[in-house]
This record gives sequence, C-alpha cells and structure tokens, in this order.
Amino acid sequence: MGDLLTISALESGYGLIQVLWGSSLSVSLNQSVVLLGVNGAGKTTLLKTIAGLLTAWNGKIVFDGIDITRAKPNKRIAGGIGYMSELGIFPNLTVEENLKLGGYFRTEKQNRKRAEDMYEYFPDLKEYRKKMGASLSGGQRKMLGVAKTLMSNPKLVIMDEPSSGLSPKFVKKVVEVLKFLHEREKLSMLIAEQNVSFIDFAQKIYILDKGQVTFGGDVEELKGNDTIRKTYFGISH
Ligand code: ATP
Repeated sequence: MGDLLTISALESGYGLIQVLWGSSLSVSLNQSVVLLGVNGAGKTTLLKTIAGLLTAWNGKIVFDGIDITRAKPNKRIAGGIGYMSELGIFPNLTVEENLKLGGYFRTEKQNRKRAEDMYEYFPDLKEYRKKMGASLSGGQRKMLGVAKTLMSNPKLVIMDEPSSGLSPKFVKKVVEVLKFLHEREKLSMLIAEQNVSFIDFAQKIYILDKGQVTFGGDVEELKGNDTIRKTYFGISH
C-alpha cells in the first residue's frame, strides 16, 4: 500500500509557542488511522497544520505525491483532503446549507447528487434538512459534520475528536458510522481522539505526546505496551 499522506518532522505552533516538535506519521490509501493523545498533546494543532489552517514552521507534508507543506487550505480541499473540526458544523445554517458549504468547490450538480448519498446514509439529516444546525442533537450534529466533510468527496478525511461532547452510546454509534463509511466509500482516515473506543476500527494507531509521535503500530502492539496501557486503559498489567 502506497502512502497517501506522509508527514515528516513537522514543527508548528502559535506565535512564539511551539506545539509540534518534529511529528512524523503516514496514512496509506484506504487505511483508517487513529491518532491518540491526551488533552493538549497537539492533536488539533497537527490536524490544522495538515489542513493548512496553521502554517508549518518546519518539516514536510506530502499528499497524494505532491508537497503541500506551503499550499493554501482551498488547494488542499480541492486536492482531496476533507477536514472536520471539533465543532464540525455551522450552527446558524440549515442542514442543507451546511452540506452545500461542504461542497463549496464542487458543481451544483455534483452537490445535489452527493447530498442524496448523505441523506441515504443519514436519514435524520434528510428529515431535518430545513432545520438549523443548532437545533440538532449532539449526535446528529456529529453526523452532519461527517456528511458536510464528505460532500467534497475527499480521498482523505481528517477528523478532530468526533467523540467530543457525546454520550458513550453515541460514541459507539459514531464509531459504527465511521467503520461503515470507511468500507463503503473506501476512505482513508486520520482521526484524532482521546477516546480509546476508536482504536477498534483503526488499522494503525499513533500516539502523540507533547507534540511528538511516540508510538506507531497496530492494536495488538498498542495493548502490549505497558506504559500506554496504564495511560489510556488505566490498567497496569
Ligand atoms: P485537546 O484534546 O484539548 O483539543 P489537543 O491534543 O488537540 O488537545 P492542541 O489543541 O493542539 O491539543 O493544543 C496543544 C497545545 O497548544 C496546548 O498546550 C494548548 O494550550 C496550545 N494551544 C492551542 N491553541 C492555541 C492558541 N490558539 N494559542 C496558543 N496556544 C494554543
């Protein structure tokens, strides 16, 4: 499997505050990757730098064979990177309008067809399509966030904590939806999470700690690592 996204020795931050200290990772075509990290580890910073919302200070980002380290965010979206922030949607726009914005760089015809796919995946959204994002439940908002991201027909979806603010029941549902979409849409995914429920569907897991990737491997390797078990699963043996 070739790499779709390769990040090498990435450094980034805010003003004088450096957050990423040489992070490296890769996502292969059709692979689901989970980036685990505690609060403040730098997950959001890493995803925003991949999306082009933050500037890389040093290092390199290669997507689909092209160096995008200095590319503008719209170029990255058009090139096939879909980014879902933690909030994910615009609460003051309707469901329909959110989807339309998600497909901003696509034609109206493409958007109409793609919205139908989304309504098929998420029937609730069809029912509420004229309602404001703000009026949706937490779970429905997440689904809208996912659907909005998929509107651009991305090759790679990067998501910032899709579990945030959700009850355990809905977290399970989000994991199921992402698993389904990964298979159905042959999506490559990079999901930043602190909730370990997500590792069940990860083909590869990275751990980000203080702005550095300290682990990369599969679920078995992760569970076999004592320090990680203690930090993320609260068990010492
Ligand atoms: P969380 O789960 O809390 O979102 P995270 O792993 O996504 O954590 P980041 O949001 O990337 O972590 O934050 C990493 C560090 O960068 C933290 O120390 C945070 O205080 C700092 N930071 C985040 N945003 C800014 C900002 N706009 N200006 C200055 N520092 C920031």
